[in-house]
Amino acid sequence: MFGRGARRSSDNTKYYDVLGVSKNANEDEIKKAYRKAAMKNHPDKGGDPEKFKELGQAYEVLSDPEKRELYDQYGEDALKEGMGGGGSSFHNPFDIFESFFGGASFGGGSSRGRRQKHGEDVVHSLKVSLEDVYNGTTKKLSLSRNVLCPKCKGKGSKSGNAGRCYGCQGTGMKITTRQIGLGMIQQMQHICPECRGSGEVISERDRCTQCKGNKVSQEKKVLEVHVEKGMQQGQKIVFEGQADEAPDTITGDIVFVLQVKEHPRFKREHDDLYIEHSLNLTEALCGFQFAVAHLDGRQLLIKSNPGEVIKPGQQKAINDEGMPQHNRPFMKGRLYIKFNVDFPDSGFLSPDQCRLLETILPQKSSKQLTDMELDECEETTLHDVNMKDEMRRKQQQHYHEAYDDDDDEQSMPRVQCAQQ
Ligand SMILES: [Zn+2]
Ligand SMILES: [Zn+2]
Repeated sequence: MFGRGARRSSDNTKYYDVLGVSKNANEDEIKKAYRKAAMKNHPDKGGDPEKFKELGQAYEVLSDPEKRELYDQYGEDALKEGMGGGGSSFHNPFDIFESFFGGASFGGGSSRGRRQKHGEDVVHSLKVSLEDVYNGTTKKLSLSRNVLCPKCKGKGSKSGNAGRCYGCQGTGMKITTRQIGLGMIQQMQHICPECRGSGEVISERDRCTQCKGNKVSQEKKVLEVHVEKGMQQGQKIVFEGQADEAPDTITGDIVFVLQVKEHPRFKREHDDLYIEHSLNLTEALCGFQFAVAHLDGRQLLIKSNPGEVIKPGQQKAINDEGMPQHNRPFMKGRLYIKFNVDFPDSGFLSPDQCRLLETILPQKSSKQLTDMELDECEETTLHDVNMKDEMRRKQQQHYHEAYDDDDDEQSMPRVQCAQQ
């Protein structure tokens, strides 16, 4: 009496709606619809786990002629009874997905049967000296990481079998509903506390004795980090797949980010190096030579050309004595030297020595004033100042002026200000 069209309940269209196919869809159309929707809604790709679960259930029923027949005729409830009752009548949606796609994971390549997540990268900053990146070096670093338990090979159990978590039906996620007002229900999704999101449970007796069912154990590991010549501040050195291991997870990378410490003498800019050197007045005028200890310990002899005078703040460069280029360490940048000139202190020259010097040095540029012109001038006194202090004083003055203006408008007391 009940034909295909005669429905006993109205909930036998849901699975078709979930997959977005008509009730007359053939096997091929159902497969295609599932493939498309499941790829799009996979939680590993940021999809909604609940939607993914629904897709799995819909596909599981509609791809099975017997179940589909039952569903078409009597709806979802009949199906649950028919599958032996209980809440956990469906397969893990991830298993359905895996079996559909033949076990291939998103990362390409082969998966180990179950779904594969991408583990997180572990990022460390690695402090190195400028000498380290000039010469290249190897740093040995001891780290501890999680590895799959060697005894149970990351299964967590002696038997190698784990049951599906009853609390979440193997999805790893749980939905709780909460009444937040009259007729208002809030749905919240969270990681299943019973299986901590793994979707499976291992019975007490079956737990691996070494990892106690945790599947992983800690391992100390020494990593040799090769800091290559010419590496830059912030450059990354990557150890692929060396981060914490976890079951069904593609292990993330350990990443070292170079932090080049400041050097007391050398400054670096890309492949160039900068130093400062102070000459005294005699060296600046009459020539100089000095040695610079380079970052590899070599002593560079720096000397002036004959007759050369160096002015305060003047810069000179030496080719090929800068930093080696990364990947082309035989190519080097420039070494720039900025010269400061230290003048002697006041009182260094006697009046006689001054007169003698004047005969050698360039003539005074300021013209001699006549007595009459001098009479017309006012006397002044030069005194020493510290320009930093001067600037600070000026800033304070400006601040107070601005503050005083405000005072006038807002009629605030100005006593505090005047005292400072
Ligand atoms: Zn669970
Ligand atoms: Zn174990």
